[in-house]
Amino acid sequence: SKGAAMVTAVAYRLAEQSRQIVQTLAEFLLTKEQLLEVKNRMKTEIQNGLSKATHETATVKMLPTFVCSTPDGTENGDFLALDLGGTNFRVLLVKIRSGKRRSVEMHNKIYAIPIEVMQGTGEELFDHIVHCISDFLDYMGMKNTRLPLGFTFSFPCKQTSLDAGILLTWTKGFKATDCEGEDVVGLLREGIKRREEFDLDVVAVVNDTVGTMMTCAYEEPTCEVGLIAGTGSNACYMEEMRNIEMVDGDTGRMCVNMEWGAFGDNGCLDDIRTQYDVAVDELSLNAGKQRYEKMCSGMYLGEIVRNILIDLTKRGFLFRGQISETLKTRGIFETKFLSQIESDRLALLQVRSILQHLGLDSTCDDSIIVKEVCGTVSRRAAQICGAGMAAVVDKIRENRGLDHLDITVGVDGTLYKLHPHFSRIMHQTVMELAPKCDVNFLLSEDGSGKGAALITAVGCRIRQQEQN
Ligand code: BGC
Ligand code: MG
Repeated sequence: SKGAAMVTAVAYRLAEQSRQIVQTLAEFLLTKEQLLEVKNRMKTEIQNGLSKATHETATVKMLPTFVCSTPDGTENGDFLALDLGGTNFRVLLVKIRSGKRRSVEMHNKIYAIPIEVMQGTGEELFDHIVHCISDFLDYMGMKNTRLPLGFTFSFPCKQTSLDAGILLTWTKGFKATDCEGEDVVGLLREGIKRREEFDLDVVAVVNDTVGTMMTCAYEEPTCEVGLIAGTGSNACYMEEMRNIEMVDGDTGRMCVNMEWGAFGDNGCLDDIRTQYDVAVDELSLNAGKQRYEKMCSGMYLGEIVRNILIDLTKRGFLFRGQISETLKTRGIFETKFLSQIESDRLALLQVRSILQHLGLDSTCDDSIIVKEVCGTVSRRAAQICGAGMAAVVDKIRENRGLDHLDITVGVDGTLYKLHPHFSRIMHQTVMELAPKCDVNFLLSEDGSGKGAALITAVGCRIRQQEQN
């Protein structure tokens, strides 16, 4: 009959639609072999970054940090810390007490950095930072003390000492002029001078991964790796000095800021990148750069999702084929929304209300598809992040000539902390890809600020020893 034929036609169309959606998302599914391949490529890039002969052209820069030991509990004093480059900009006062009743007490205030400032001139950016410090010192009533300061600056910096770091390139949402190629400690000191209101002793510039590792190592001495899975993505670990060819000396270890976000910038991940990854990269502030980061960090996951949704809508599979203004808006799917959409406790109706809140009118079917897209994108992110970490812990194990390694990784970042599945999938991937390592992940609360203070404390102690 005619009715039956119509039902068959509709059923056929729906089946064809879901086949095409499944096919679209299949590109994001990686086999264990592919993940092992990612791990091995990361190992190769690590070696390229460490070796003098290849360092110049290496994409994973493996930057020396001049942090040569983890804390030992003797750190002591009051320190100021700045934390720039994550979800929030913060100024902190950290009071560290050593001895039997060792403790860390922190006071902090979050400040907004308007987009115009992130992407304005360097002078405006640093004036704004110094303005926030000034406000904080007023708030704490400490304008007249010349405190030692640790500057957590979560961007790739070429360091020549603990207190000098040349910004190689901005990443994430930052693009202030006249900063790349400059020593950011110098820029901060100049900003403080321009204001003529207070003085500070800038002792250390610290990557957030390093701060996170140090904070966890303060509680747990087996922590020799730091990982950030947040707005951006990166890791650091204690490497043997003899392997760090860019720094003289062969004894002991130094923490290396990997800057693994740039993994893939030489094309070595092209076979697993999808058209959506390419689109996200091309629309970003730093096209061609940080390709791995753009596949696995909070700032970009939502953008990948959005690009897939646009494509599925264009093909008539979603939102009744209508691309709304909202869907065209960059950055609508922040980590916190993705995390909500993927929460298992959430009924589909609630997914629809989140989409509604974002300005997207969805049917029940739409919400199922959106949730599926989010899950696929974040699963791949967790897996490739895990593949990178597997390369790191295996490298440490090999460095030490061990058949088996027990190690702790200090972790921070909004994606890791907020997302309902990211951490679990990442842990599982590391376990599968580095079976000779037992990796314990330790969440670092407030890692980067506290860690900067700990590093500053060590820096002050070393300076005093040198003076005596
Ligand atoms: C930066 C790293 C940083 C990471 C996490 C990346 O974009 O290049 O220096 O550690 O984000 O914040
Ligand atoms: Mg941070």
